[in-house]
Amino acid sequence: MTAIKNVTVLGTGVLGSQIAFQTAFHGFTVIAYDINAEIIEQAKARFASLAQTYIDEHIAGAADGGSVAALANISYSFELGDAVKDADLVIEVVPEKLEIKRALYTQLAKLAPPKTIFATNSSTLLPSALKDFTGRPDRFIALHYANRVWLHNTAEIMGTADTTPAVVQTIVDFATATGMVPIEIKKEHAGYLLNSLLVPFLGAAGDLLVDGIAEPDMVDKTWRIGTGAPLGPFQIFDIVGLTTAYNISLMNPDPKRQAFVKLLKERYIDKGKLGRSTGEGFYSYPKK
Ligand code: NAD
Repeated sequence: MTAIKNVTVLGTGVLGSQIAFQTAFHGFTVIAYDINAEIIEQAKARFASLAQTYIDEHIAGAADGGSVAALANISYSFELGDAVKDADLVIEVVPEKLEIKRALYTQLAKLAPPKTIFATNSSTLLPSALKDFTGRPDRFIALHYANRVWLHNTAEIMGTADTTPAVVQTIVDFATATGMVPIEIKKEHAGYLLNSLLVPFLGAAGDLLVDGIAEPDMVDKTWRIGTGAPLGPFQIFDIVGLTTAYNISLMNPDPKRQAFVKLLKERYIDKGKLGRSTGEGFYSYPKK
């Protein structure tokens, strides 16, 4: 049984809303915090939509009151001190910008009680880059969720050299208690496990396209038949979203990555083809 009861999630965007809802769905008391009242109103709509998604996607218990109960477990705040004053765990899910996260941890260090564990959901920043701003490096850890947490339910858990083993164990227990599969990473590593595998794989697929070796459907077919995997890399690109693929490739100075960035922009992004979310990316998807 986890020692965590009260959870505060900072940021109610794409991932923050999912993490807060998934946690509330598993019976925890959750405070969803964001920067102002207007964004909190948008967050309420996101939570209502997630409640319906859990029902539509047949998550066990959702239709039998689970979604309604989850919504009742969530309260809202745009006052940081209030939001964290009783928190056992704060999960930080704010934009992937070092300055924003550092400024937030500097505030949090003063406002949260000593018992509170801080966890960052950052995809690309190492927790070491943030730990000195937390005021509690021993109680700070990365807890990384994947988009569509109810379906892709990995929780990658990665401490720094300062994180105590008891805190790691508490977070492993918390992840399990919230329906996640805890993936404990032995030492800090950029990209955790999933992105350490996925990013080079997708990059290699991009090279095949940029170099004119093969078209996406041929690459995907080869991967599916040759390995038994259900999806090829370009099908995965469409799920991740081409804007995210563009932003990740943009950070890589390799000329091939930059050629892929150009191709993505000209052939897809500028035409509003952003992947499954818009009904078209490398492939077209029938409207639901
Ligand atoms: P997002 O832009 O959708 O949401 C960020 C939210 O944080 C917004 O609601 C914004 O108002 C709020 N915010 C901004 N400044 C804040 C502050 N100072 N305090 C509190 N809230 C603040 O972003 P996202 O896609 O949910 O990503 C958030 C984090 O999750 C990033 O670190 C990202 O790397 C990570 N992540 C994202 C995904 C994904 O697929 N989107 C997957 C895994 C991890």
